[in-house]
Amino acid sequence: MKISTPTSTTQETQDLLRTATRALIEAGIPDGRREAETLIAHILNRPRLDLYRADALSLDPDQREAFAGLIRRRASREPLQYILGIQEFWGLEFRVTTDTLIPRPETELLIEAVLEQFGRPALPITLVDLCTGTGCLAVTLGTLYPTARILATDRSPAALDVARSNALRHGMAGRIEFLEGDLLEPLASISLHNRIDVMTVNPPYVPAGELDRLQPEVRFHEPRLALNGGCDGLDYYRRILPGALEFLRPGGRLFLEVGIRQAIPVREMAEQSGWRVDQIKKDLQKIDRVVVLKKP
Ligand code: GLN
Repeated sequence: MKISTPTSTTQETQDLLRTATRALIEAGIPDGRREAETLIAHILNRPRLDLYRADALSLDPDQREAFAGLIRRRASREPLQYILGIQEFWGLEFRVTTDTLIPRPETELLIEAVLEQFGRPALPITLVDLCTGTGCLAVTLGTLYPTARILATDRSPAALDVARSNALRHGMAGRIEFLEGDLLEPLASISLHNRIDVMTVNPPYVPAGELDRLQPEVRFHEPRLALNGGCDGLDYYRRILPGALEFLRPGGRLFLEVGIRQAIPVREMAEQSGWRVDQIKKDLQKIDRVVVLKKP
C-alpha cells in the first residue's frame, strides 16, 4: 500500500516524522509510520488525520524534545497504548496503565457471545466479570445492559483503581461494584450463590514456559500477574470451573476466553465439573477463543 506523505505539515515536521519512522522500523515495529504520526499528533494534541489536513503543523522546542522522548520509549518496545495511556475496546476508550493488561480485540468476542446468548433482556440480570483488569468487559456490559446489576473482581488493587476510573469515565461510577480478591472469593462473602446470570472471565492463560517467548511489548511491559497461567496455562480454569458452578443460577452462563489449544482441555474440565458446553467461538485467526458454558 502506498502511503501519501502529509502535505500540510511543515518541512521540518515531515523530516521529524521521517526520522522517527525510521527509528521505529529499525526497532522492529513494522507500522512505524502510523505510530510516529500517532505520537506526534499526541504531542500536538490533535487527531492524527490533522497531519494531513490542518494548517502547517510545527513543534516548538519543548514539543520536539517530548516527541523524541516518546519515540525512544516506543523504540524500546514499550507498547503504544501505555505511552498514550489509552486503548479502544468495543468503540469505547479505556485508560490503561502497566498495572493492567491492554485490552485485545479477541476479548471483544466475549461481549459478542454474551449478546448472542442473552439478547438484551429488560429484566435486571446479574453480571459478574472476574479478573476485570481495565474493567473493559464490565464497563462495556454496563453500557449494553443498563438495568443489570454488575460486579467486577480483581486481586490487584492497582488494577481495580484503573477499572474504577474507567467506570467513571463512561458514566458508570455508581453502577459497578468493584471487589478486591482472588477469583470467586469476593463473591462468597456477599452471598451471590445461585444468583448470577452471566459471568465473564479473561484469566491469565499463558503457559509459564512461554512467557519469555512473547513479543517484547508483552514480555517486558505487561503485568505477569495478568498473563501467567501456570505450567500449562490452565491453572485459573482449574479453579474457576468447579467453583463458579455454585454461583450461577440454573441456566446461567459462563463465558471464558482461552488461549491457543486450550479450548479442548477447558471443555473437558468443564464437562467433568458438571457444565454443559454451549458454544466455542473462533477469533479472526480461526483460533478457538471463547468457550461458552451453561449451568444445567
Ligand atoms: N491474549 C494475551 C496474549 O497476548 C493473553 C491474555 C491472557 O493471559 N488473558 O498472549
